[in-house]
Amino acid sequence: MKILSVNAGSSSLKFQMYEMPDEIVLISGVFERIGMEESFYTIKLNGEKIEKKVELKDHKRAFELLVQELVDNKIVDSLDDIAGIGHRIVQGGSYFDKSVIASEDVIAKIDELSPLAPLHNPAAIVGIRAAQAVVPGAVQTVVFDTAYHQTMPEENYLYALPYDLCQDNLIRRYGAHGTSHRYVANKMNEILGREDTKLITCHIGNGASISAVLNGKCLNTSMGLTPNAGLIMGTRCGDIDATILPYLMEKQNISCKEMDRIMNKESGLLGISGVSSDSRDIEAGIKEGNKRCELAQKMYVRRIIDYIAKYYVELGGCDGIIFTAGVGENSVPVRKAVMEGLAVLGVKLDEDKNNIRGSLQKISANDSSIPVYVIPTDEELMIARDTLNLINS
Ligand code: AMP
Repeated sequence: MKILSVNAGSSSLKFQMYEMPDEIVLISGVFERIGMEESFYTIKLNGEKIEKKVELKDHKRAFELLVQELVDNKIVDSLDDIAGIGHRIVQGGSYFDKSVIASEDVIAKIDELSPLAPLHNPAAIVGIRAAQAVVPGAVQTVVFDTAYHQTMPEENYLYALPYDLCQDNLIRRYGAHGTSHRYVANKMNEILGREDTKLITCHIGNGASISAVLNGKCLNTSMGLTPNAGLIMGTRCGDIDATILPYLMEKQNISCKEMDRIMNKESGLLGISGVSSDSRDIEAGIKEGNKRCELAQKMYVRRIIDYIAKYYVELGGCDGIIFTAGVGENSVPVRKAVMEGLAVLGVKLDEDKNNIRGSLQKISANDSSIPVYVIPTDEELMIARDTLNLINS
């Protein structure tokens, strides 16, 4: 059965087609600059990458070209071969605790939640509508970044602001990267050979979050109402004293919109170092003796250690720590520094094993109190799996 995983942004459309249930990637690619000048798409097929410059007036046009590529490359004989299309949705609010079929009622709820994800939810709806128009026979499903975190208890997702004010404005911790946390937690349970586990999953990419996972379910997570909470990220500040905002806005005459931009686009590694949001540049800066890069890395690592320690206590122990996403899968120095910071818990690094990038590997020493793994994430595969399960149910 052929299933397409789709991630639509406001001007982009990423896709990956699977043969399911064998979980074989048949083709993948991305359409970029949709609705803009100089639009193009790239596809990866049989280890080859091809780029084509085309006019992409909207997402529907991107879908038409996508389907054309599937037929031309004999991935499918006709549109009827596409059994399902799974769409990534950033914000599912308190409505969705699992993936569902994209009914009209579901689409209306995603739309209603747009104020909580103004860049993402409307774009995803455009993607669903385009897919429905071009491949009407396929089952359309939606997979939410927030759904995995819906099992958090009230005391972990509420903020200590006036209760009614929060209720009336849907203010609570929703979390993010849920599909990734779910994927690596499931994989770790497979490795451990049991499900009654206490795991700490660290999705450290450009955006970053850590979750405490008890018996396969999310108990707590570091992201909040929005994806700017918890860890220090590439350009996002993560947790700060909230009163800094009104203080700065008044003192510097900064508008609400501008403050939002500073917190989301000019802070984090970039803001501290003044060099870059990319941990590779920070690492290079440290080698060159740049003190601000050193400081950025110290603060970044400190925050990761703090969250792991906090969740260790909340879980009452830990059976596995997992690193995933761009930094987690690739940064040898960040993983080393985090693990050294956890030495008091008996965590021990195996330096040789840690010297890997982007592959599944146990990186803790055999006498480490907690096994620590790098597990490359695969959100697209989770979307395809959920879509297959919904088609079969
Ligand atoms: P993601 O958001 O998961 O795609 O992660 C992207 C981030 O991963 C980049 O901004 C880099 O900071 C980081 N990254 C990717 N490759 C490496 C590498 N080889 N070493 C250190 N950091 C990396």
